[in-house]
Amino acid sequence: MARKDIVVLGAGIIGLCVALHLQKRGRAVALVDRRGAAEETSFGNAGLIQREGVFPYGFPHDFGALLRYGLNRTIAAHYHPSALPRLAPFLWQYWQHSRPARHAEVARLYAKLIEHCVAEHDALAAEAGAQHLIVRGGWLKVFRTERERDQRFAEAEGWKMDFGVEHRKLDAQALQAAEPYLAPVLAGALHWTQPTRALDPHALGQAYLARFQALGGEFLQGNAATLEADGAGWKLRTAKGPLEAGGVVVALGPWADVLTRALGYDLPLAVKRGYHMHYRAAGEAKLNHPILDVERGYFMGPVGRGIRLTTGAEFALRDAIRTPVQLGRAEPIARDLFPLAERLDAEPWMGSRPCTPDMLPVIGPAPRHANLWFAFGHAHHGLTLGAVTGRLIAELVTGEAPFVDPAPYSAARFR
Ligand SMILES: Cc1cc2nc3c(=O)[nH]c(=O)nc-3n(C[C@H](O)[C@H](O)[C@H](O)COP(=O)(O)OP(=O)(O)OC[C@H]3O[C@@H](n4cnc5c(N)ncnc54)[C@H](O)[C@@H]3O)c2cc1C
Repeated sequence: MARKDIVVLGAGIIGLCVALHLQKRGRAVALVDRRGAAEETSFGNAGLIQREGVFPYGFPHDFGALLRYGLNRTIAAHYHPSALPRLAPFLWQYWQHSRPARHAEVARLYAKLIEHCVAEHDALAAEAGAQHLIVRGGWLKVFRTERERDQRFAEAEGWKMDFGVEHRKLDAQALQAAEPYLAPVLAGALHWTQPTRALDPHALGQAYLARFQALGGEFLQGNAATLEADGAGWKLRTAKGPLEAGGVVVALGPWADVLTRALGYDLPLAVKRGYHMHYRAAGEAKLNHPILDVERGYFMGPVGRGIRLTTGAEFALRDAIRTPVQLGRAEPIARDLFPLAERLDAEPWMGSRPCTPDMLPVIGPAPRHANLWFAFGHAHHGLTLGAVTGRLIAELVTGEAPFVDPAPYSAARFR
């Protein structure tokens, strides 16, 4: 039977970064997925590496937003009423962790990971020869009203002081100069200057895979459901035959709960689904930065394939039928803001953000099993935090001093 030091289950951006970091440290690593690498959630996200994302997206607490969401007609959020009974315990906890004081506490813990996101991806991309896939220049949060603009400008000052998040404030005129093809209906923008972005998240994943394989790592097809304890280690079946491993890292993103439940853990995981569609920019029109139309609730940015429009949160069961209503609502508004030509994809793409109710990822040893580690629950920021999580898990597995204190991200917090 083939034997590896470590098997990483799941070849999304998290599993890829974990596997690469372990292989770099001289471990014999197999990365196992039932599909190709970065073909699920890590395929079609908005591509941002969000250095500004210190406050993970909370559940709204103001009455107006709750009412709008409740009516289920917004672009930012959509829900399947039939899923609410199953989602209610998660939503209740999510709401509690989003209370302003608790949210601020969560942000302090989250920022410890976020602050390394750009540097860690830059390092991996350089090793993988993938610098050309990382674009600098930040992104723009654009505002329809002066009220929203001024409120967010003030918030940005706080984030700068507390978390070192840099920004530029653009008034309507400066925004027009930066983005001449946007309709002149906006009151200004916050330009987050530190974030980078992946021109094509799937291609970045492929580049990390190629680097992992060049270092001797093995990518295998297999189903995580075949995992079994085997003495002090583990075994599982792959397309190339049975495999033994000294340790296993679970990086199954939105499917992590399938395995953790089978292993006896009751973790409060859920998904927020999201969609994308590509468009050709009409005529000579050019979008210089990605933009979040925050008062309308959608995001669009330039990628290799054209303009990628991505949607916010859909609260639904992971495997429920696709309902890209948010995309349908966003498209005419986006067209009014920027001259989009025809759709380039036959069908909208959908991915499922793997979420925890306290908005913190699960990173670290499994509480009740030796030689088992968890790396999932990265919600809106899996691309952002992929390289950070990869390094942290590799340091924990190999017994190095961790570069970030892992305690707040332990699965033990849910006991
Ligand atoms: C619309 C949208 C926009 C987003 N924008 C951004 C953004 O701009 N920036 C950002 O940082 N994040 C963004 N995200 C979030 C980000 O995409 C995710 O957090 C991230 O991709 C999660 O990565 P992952 O590796 O945990 O999961 P995945 O990429 O889903 O990987 C999980 C892997 O596990 C495999 N798997 C599942 N079950 C099994 C099994 N039984 N056996 C074997 N393999 C299995 C799957 O095939 C898959 O390859 C966005 C998400 C969406 C939906």
